[in-house]
Amino acid sequence: MAKGRVEIATEFCKSCEYCVISCPKNCLAVGEKVNSKGYPYVVSANPEDCIGCAMCAQICPESAIEVWRQ
Ligand code: SF4
Ligand code: SF4
Repeated sequence: MAKGRVEIATEFCKSCEYCVISCPKNCLAVGEKVNSKGYPYVVSANPEDCIGCAMCAQICPESAIEVWRQ
């Protein structure tokens, strides 16, 4: 299985959770910290499970997620 890694531009996140719902491996979750606009931003909660499918990046309306395949 391919391994992936995500980078989240936390300042762009609006907490819509589309990425959380779209991830087939349940890697992403809204964290407890907020960005400068007051939105709690998404973090990679289970980074070891990421397969690099990029579903999260494709669905993010803010283009806040970059995916790297390893
Ligand atoms: S790349 Fe795929 S597996 Fe990895 S966090 Fe995004 S949706 Fe989940
Ligand atoms: S889809 Fe984008 S804006 Fe929405 S919660 Fe995920 S990272 Fe944040």
